[in-house]
Amino acid sequence: MISQKKIIEVKNLVKKYDDLTAVNDISFDVYEGEIFGLLGPNGAGKTTTLEIMETLREQTSGEVLVDGLSVTTQKNQVKKIIGVQLQQSGFYPNLTLFELIKLFAGLYNIETDAMEVLELVGLKEKAKAIYKTLSGGQKQRFAVATTIINKPKIVFLDEPTTGLDPQARRNLWELIQNIRDTGSTVVLTTHYMDEAEKLCDRVGIVDSGKIIQLDTPGNLIDNLLAKGFTREEKLKHASLEDVFIHLTGKDLRDE
Ligand code: ATP
Repeated sequence: MISQKKIIEVKNLVKKYDDLTAVNDISFDVYEGEIFGLLGPNGAGKTTTLEIMETLREQTSGEVLVDGLSVTTQKNQVKKIIGVQLQQSGFYPNLTLFELIKLFAGLYNIETDAMEVLELVGLKEKAKAIYKTLSGGQKQRFAVATTIINKPKIVFLDEPTTGLDPQARRNLWELIQNIRDTGSTVVLTTHYMDEAEKLCDRVGIVDSGKIIQLDTPGNLIDNLLAKGFTREEKLKHASLEDVFIHLTGKDLRDE
């Protein structure tokens, strides 16, 4: 359930890398229980914004509050209530998934039921497999698993489905919705507009370090249509992706 409680407040955020202003005075709120998407072209400033919210980068000016805590002055408290997707290179390749989950739980200083976490992401059968033997889709699901070990209030996912086949993408969408349904808020970036349209309750469109629109996907589409926009080609009632899924089925291939 999306509440009207602001779980993240981004206020006049600026990030400069020398002469380059990557994030140029942006402000927005994320509500508790929603899936919020940051969309935008390459280099727009999405990852920079996300990593400041995650306490991984420091802003030049402005402020971000995560559940009322400042990412600048209350970093450690923020870290306890968020789940962050690590780059895949952050995993020890020769440990099993079970061992890796236990290792992360140890770093968080918490007890966790590793099998329960793996079951949530559909990797229970792979508990004894070593990380480097996983397929791309399994690695992505495992990366999501590591974000929920500490039962976070907010999960951050940077391009969680990049490079996946259609079955694995849909599977990951379900997983992300399940995470939201257990009460976490999800903030993600994606370059896939179909993904944002299906998954996100609201999206912010970032361009050149500014948020240029922020609304539900439905409202953004209606606003465009109200301006008289129509597609040049008449849309068919099925897409090539529908053909692909119809032919190859919905089941994951890398089980
Ligand atoms: P993409 O979709 O390609 O991942 P993005 O929207 O996530 O892009 P950022 O990674 O936030 O964009 O980058 C925004 C701008 O800041 C880019 O011009 C990038 O080159 C620059 N930038 C990012 N990180 C650094 C850094 N550590 N040092 C210098 N410039 C950087």
